[in-house]
Amino acid sequence: MSQKILILGVNGFIGSSLTERILNEKPDWEVYGMDMSTHKLQESIDNERFHFIEGDITINKEWIAYHIKKCDVVLPLVAIATPSTYVNDPLRVFELDFEANLEIIRQCVRHKKRVLFPSTSEVYGMSSDSEFHEEDSNLVLGPIHKERWIYSCSKQLMDRVIYAYGKHEDFKFTLFRPFNWVGPKLDNILEQKEGGSRVLTQFISNILHGKDIKLVNGGQQRRSFTCIDDGISALMKIIENKDGCAQGRIFNIGNPKNDVSIKELAELLVSLIKTYPKYASMAANTKLITVEGKDYYGAGYQDVSARVPSIQNAMQYLNWEPTTDLEASLRKTLDYHLADPNSDI
Ligand code: UDP
Repeated sequence: MSQKILILGVNGFIGSSLTERILNEKPDWEVYGMDMSTHKLQESIDNERFHFIEGDITINKEWIAYHIKKCDVVLPLVAIATPSTYVNDPLRVFELDFEANLEIIRQCVRHKKRVLFPSTSEVYGMSSDSEFHEEDSNLVLGPIHKERWIYSCSKQLMDRVIYAYGKHEDFKFTLFRPFNWVGPKLDNILEQKEGGSRVLTQFISNILHGKDIKLVNGGQQRRSFTCIDDGISALMKIIENKDGCAQGRIFNIGNPKNDVSIKELAELLVSLIKTYPKYASMAANTKLITVEGKDYYGAGYQDVSARVPSIQNAMQYLNWEPTTDLEASLRKTLDYHLADPNSDI
C-alpha cells in the first residue's frame, strides 16, 4: 500500500537511515522531511520521492500543519538525546523534547493521523529488572537535583499523553524505545568537545584524537548496543503495520545479546581499530582511565547500571528480531568513519 510518511528531524541518525531504507525498498512510498540541515541525507536528497524542506519545528509551523494533513503516518523524531545536555541544559531538553513535540502530537490527534513516536530506553531509568519489559517494568528515576532525568521524565510524560489519547480519543500510535542504537552517522567524530556524543562515537573520537578513553565511574555499567540496520527493520515493520500489529503498542527495539560493560566496549573498540592499518598505532597508544561521573558530566549526573531490553513484544507482534552482533555493529560504524584510508579521520 502506498504511504506518505512525514519525518520531522529527517536529517538525524534515525531519520536519515529510515529515509534511505524507505526509498530503497518501497517504490510507492513518499517521504516528506524537515530538518535544519541535510548533511546526513546525501543518499536520499536527489530522490524524486523525497521532499525535503529546511526548517525548524518550532518555527515552520504552517508547513508542518499542512503536511500532517497530507501524510498518512507521522514520525516526530526531533529531540535532544545526549546525556550531557540533560545535565547542562535541561530546560532546552524539556522545551524541545516535550513542549514542541506535544504541539505536533495534538495536531495528529486532531487530524486522526497515525504517529510513531520515539520513546526511549531511558524511561526505565534505574529499574532493577534484569530485562526491561514494556508493560511490566517500573520506571525508576532519581531525585530532582539529578537533572539527568529530565529527558527520561519528558519522554515518559509524552508516552503517557500519547497513550491516553489512544485510549480515550481513538488516536492511532506506536511508541518505540531504542536501546543504544549505533551505526554510521550517529554523531560527528570530528567533534573534539567531550560529552557531546554518545559513548561509542565519543570513544572513537578519543582514540583518533590521541586522547585517553574516559570510563565514567570505572565503566562497569552495561548497555545493549543495537545496530541501526536492525532498528530500522523494526521501524519498517511498524510503519507497515500488517493487520494492525503495531497499533497502540509499545516496543523495545534493542539487542539483548549485545549486552556489554562500557569497559568491555572500550576494549573491543581498541582491538577492532588495531585492524585498520592507518589507525592501528593510535589504538595501541590509547589508555583507558577512570573519571568520576560528576566531574565528567556535572553534579546532576546519575547513571543507569544495566539496560537490557525484553524484545518479546517486538518478536511476537512485529515478527522482528535483531541479527547484527556487537562486533559487526561496531565494524559497520568504523568502516563508515575509517575505511577510506585516504580520508582525514
Ligand atoms: N560513558 C563513558 N565515557 C564517555 C561517554 C560515556 O564512560 O566518554 C558512559 C556513560 O557514563 C554511560 C554509558 O557510557 O554509562 C553510555 O553513555 P551514552 O552517552 O552513550 O548514553 P546512555 O546509554 O547513558 O543514554
